[in-house]
Amino acid sequence: MLIQVALPVPIDSVFDYRIVGDALPAIGCRVRVPFGARKLVGIVVAHIEHSQLTQNAIKPVLDILDEVPIVDEALLKLAYWLSAYYCYPLGDVFAVMLPTLVRQGMTLDYRQLCWQQLRDATDEDFSASAKKQRQQFALCELVINSHGNSNRNDTKLVSEFALVDNGVEPAYLKKFEQKGLMAPVYQMPSLPKLAKLATTPLTLNLQQQQAVQKITHACQQPHYEGFLLNGITGSGKTEVYLQVMQTVLAQGKQVLILVPEIGLTPQTRQRFAERFDAQVLMLHSGLNDTVRLDGWQQCRLGYAQIIIGTRSSVLYPFANLGLIIVDESHDQSYKQQDSLRYHASDVALYRGFQLNCPVILGTATPSLESLYLVQQGKLTELTLTQRAGDAKPAAMQLIDARQQAWQNGLAQSLIQAIRQTLDKDEQVLVFLNRRGYAPILLCDACGWQADCPRCDAHLTVHFQPVAMLKCHHCDWQQAIPNHCPSCGSSNLDPVGMGTARMVEGLTELFPDVPVIQIDRDTTRKKNSWEQVYQRIADNPKAILVGTQMVAKGHHFPNVTLVAIPNADRGFLSSDFRSPEHTAQLIIQVAGRAGRADKAGLVLIQTLQPENPALLTLVREGYLSFAQQLLAERRMLGLPPFTYACLVRVESKSLENNQQILHQAIALLPSRQHMTALGIAINGPMDAPMAKKNSRYHSHLLILTKTRHVRQQLLSDWWRQTIALPSAKYARLSIDIDPMSW
Ligand code: ADP
Ligand code: ZN
Ligand code: ZN
Repeated sequence: MLIQVALPVPIDSVFDYRIVGDALPAIGCRVRVPFGARKLVGIVVAHIEHSQLTQNAIKPVLDILDEVPIVDEALLKLAYWLSAYYCYPLGDVFAVMLPTLVRQGMTLDYRQLCWQQLRDATDEDFSASAKKQRQQFALCELVINSHGNSNRNDTKLVSEFALVDNGVEPAYLKKFEQKGLMAPVYQMPSLPKLAKLATTPLTLNLQQQQAVQKITHACQQPHYEGFLLNGITGSGKTEVYLQVMQTVLAQGKQVLILVPEIGLTPQTRQRFAERFDAQVLMLHSGLNDTVRLDGWQQCRLGYAQIIIGTRSSVLYPFANLGLIIVDESHDQSYKQQDSLRYHASDVALYRGFQLNCPVILGTATPSLESLYLVQQGKLTELTLTQRAGDAKPAAMQLIDARQQAWQNGLAQSLIQAIRQTLDKDEQVLVFLNRRGYAPILLCDACGWQADCPRCDAHLTVHFQPVAMLKCHHCDWQQAIPNHCPSCGSSNLDPVGMGTARMVEGLTELFPDVPVIQIDRDTTRKKNSWEQVYQRIADNPKAILVGTQMVAKGHHFPNVTLVAIPNADRGFLSSDFRSPEHTAQLIIQVAGRAGRADKAGLVLIQTLQPENPALLTLVREGYLSFAQQLLAERRMLGLPPFTYACLVRVESKSLENNQQILHQAIALLPSRQHMTALGIAINGPMDAPMAKKNSRYHSHLLILTKTRHVRQQLLSDWWRQTIALPSAKYARLSIDIDPMSW
């Protein structure tokens, strides 16, 4: 009897093993097998009759770890799909998918320790002095009779947890077992009751009603349909999710809600847990291995009804999933940036298709990819254009900073607007996507700049908590020099504006107003977020200075002015996705302003007020901007109109990288042939930051007209490329649908 096993080794192949004895492990079970000198845990993916290997070369399986498959058919299919789509070895896909303890071979037993009573107690069981024992036994009887569930033999069982919860001391249970009064029984916990509404739903506005109706319809005769819920910030997307969920939960099905990494605040959980009387599970990167395994089991066995999780929860097994929601679906944290470089929104759509359930992508700033899917008829678009209640969306205006006097990085008219807002006892949010004091230290005399010795990057000037030059791309730091190392001049100046410098400048301009810095430097410590929140709540009049951290998930109810002093940089970047991401960020930050009774205002300071992209965004809004950008991408043959694959090479030298990539290109069909197939090869080229952490990075970009051609081209080629002898001394990776290049 032969089986094929997927193993966590970076070889794109499955491995043949032989079974000794007659217990053939089912597909999806774990086995322990010898691999070289090691013993590895793998997943059985096939039963085979014949092997390419000679009889003697096929080693026997050491251990069968599961009686029933832990990877079901759907999960196995997902693994194969991920492996093929992202060009990643199947065994390594499982390594990403499965919790650590599962991969290590831990026995999976979700049964619970319960107790049953075997007989009544007699006087002989307890000596006269054993009063406490007698009492404890009476308590056990009471708990079993009132809380116990009957099993098939009509014996009442109660979990040890329930006994202890009611005041039974575990040590006594052992005693009662020895006396033959009670016996332990292992049993699966009972499944949760059907989820019920706990609070009354809000009355929907017309647009919300239409959205709920359409999606609910798809949930009633369950089938796959993808929806883009395109609703401005504050338009009540969450209420739409909640009312659709009602239908799905009533069918006894599970709902998966994906949220961006940073948006996973206790408030998120609260909104869902408050509405439904249901088992809510939270999954995020901060869980330890035991808790993560428990969550995985709860999803797989059906104990969790509402699952709120970050990116990786899209790879979980589910007992009966009825709906997937991807909240803030444009968010970049949905793309995994190492190992298996999957995009959770794309995987969510695939899973919906695979499991016959609707998928909602909800956002105020849809990615160009999802807008294109709408154009192609692959997603149904539902729009919410009004803020729920009476709140008005914030107005957006440009401030032409060319003609005005400046102070501390702010034009006079912007300072004026900040003053007016504060005078009304309202708060201002200044958005600046750069932490530290200044991004550059420059010598006035000779033009020398402080650079990172390990990266192609300037060092950022920091004064808090200590004066230091720090690299934001590796962990390099050094003291700030007193003299220029190149010419000896002492005129070294910080150039440019970081959050800390903005805070200093605003404090100087508004000495009586608290200025609160919100970035990684001020919120890294435990509980620091709570403190920042508290300061914001305690000071109706305040200025918040924040990086992109403030754009997600948080709401600051007293902020009525959002100031963006430096938006130009993002529109000028060489990364083709930068304008899209910059516009999304601006709109998301703008969404923090205003509330029911006070309209918000967003002021964007620019030195390029004629920039057409910026003008469209401000005058016509995100969707017009996005359509314009889409037209541009179509013309240039860029994604989503073509399908991209980025090969990254990292090694000790650029020459080395070049050599590998040229050899890789030589393995492709001739240029002529590829042009005929509509394939464009760009590179080899240096990465935008070629040197990073003392290693050198190069790229090769492949664009194809269809997904199908990309997949056909890549699968064999990539296998050959990583097998190149020269590739041994480098790190190669392939990124399908890369986020940037
Ligand atoms: P989004 O997720 O689209 O940014 P939210 O779902 O957070 O918006 O809704 C914003 C606010 O509007 C919330 O306080 C929510 O309770 C409220 N809200 C949503 N829908 C309605 C409605 N139909 N009637 C009244 N208030 C609503
Ligand atoms: Zn100098
Ligand atoms: Zn560095």
